[in-house]
Amino acid sequence: MAELTKRSVTYVTVEGELIAETPVNSNGEKVKVVVIITHDEMTVYSNECRSCVWMENGKQKMVKKTKGKSIMVSGFCCDCHGFFSGWVDGVFLKSYEFFEAGKGRDGWYNNDDLVKFLIKIAPLIRSKHPDMDIVLAFDNSMSHHKKAPNALDATALPLRDGGKNSRRMRDTKIMVERFNSSDRSSTLEEKAQKMQNEAGEQKGIKTILIERRLWVGTMLLECQECKDDVFRMDPNKRKELEEFKDADPNWIGFTDKCCARGCLRRQDDFRSQKEWLAEECEKAHFQIIYYPKYHCELNYIESIWAYIKCKLRRSCTFNYNSMVERLKSLLDGDVPLELFQKTARCCQRMMDGYRMGLKGPLLDYASKKYRGHRAMPRFVTTEVNNLQKEFEEKMRLKRERKLGNARAAKATS
Ligand SMILES: [Zn+2]
Ligand SMILES: [Zn+2]
Repeated sequence: MAELTKRSVTYVTVEGELIAETPVNSNGEKVKVVVIITHDEMTVYSNECRSCVWMENGKQKMVKKTKGKSIMVSGFCCDCHGFFSGWVDGVFLKSYEFFEAGKGRDGWYNNDDLVKFLIKIAPLIRSKHPDMDIVLAFDNSMSHHKKAPNALDATALPLRDGGKNSRRMRDTKIMVERFNSSDRSSTLEEKAQKMQNEAGEQKGIKTILIERRLWVGTMLLECQECKDDVFRMDPNKRKELEEFKDADPNWIGFTDKCCARGCLRRQDDFRSQKEWLAEECEKAHFQIIYYPKYHCELNYIESIWAYIKCKLRRSCTFNYNSMVERLKSLLDGDVPLELFQKTARCCQRMMDGYRMGLKGPLLDYASKKYRGHRAMPRFVTTEVNNLQKEFEEKMRLKRERKLGNARAAKATS
């Protein structure tokens, strides 16, 4: 991420105006610009309104008891366009879509919907950012790490062919040893392996392993070690991984033929199977990154959602259709572009702070102090200590002022 932000356009405030700064390398030459496009979802309800209003004495505010009908927005935005839309090959596309979540409506928005949406608008993203390296940033939620429906995945695959619940997997390529009888040497050669048998059923682990000459007669379906290993390999279950380090997705603890499922899972093609979202990004030549878990404050779209919600609350009429209309106009350009740029910069500063080891209130303080800057200044340890002292001093003064006010209030009463 640090490398990416170095190559992205940043916005600095010069005499009260936001100015775009194109990145340059150490020699001062222009480099290929990176644009980070961020994604998130938000749900709003038609009866959400301001929680506090001015009323005439004796009158009561009418508040609806239920939250009302909901609508969900799934959107991509960037700091150069905000939410964007446009014509691509005769089709008008928008960088956001609505979804009416719930029973009897559109169902529940999941990874499949997101992937489909991404495939749909990938040409739009590309056309809006020609000659740029495009990076898509997603929240690190469970569902975003799902694999495609036909991905190579041994997790739920049974030993035998067929099986009612087996997913149909895509065909693959394997390396097989070929014995050369003339000079008694052997060479490895690539061979296609179909994942369905002649009856059209999904092959089981046993057949797949036999074809790869890896089957051992005494093999169990899955040993306990491999069961635990899945836990460690699952990016969502690896608690021990630090927030900013990307884990090695190919980490494998065991290499022998301990069990059938473990053996198949450790095959190159199964190991290198990418997640669906990542696969689609690769096809569109986008890079993909995830925000660290539990750090939604680093995704500036959250601030945009907050702004939109605030606007919607102010104009709440308890009417679903009018809310949707208002929401559309907000997404179509009623959110000032400056807000995207400022909040993006703020998030960049936060990430900078985290990288330097700042946390909690001190980070908030530092982030506010260097508000006009696109990045935190490079601190050395002594400066961090000074900053800490400065912050503590400020907090002390604040407490004293509060105490003083309280005393003054007491004295006058
Ligand atoms: Zn843009
Ligand atoms: Zn095993």
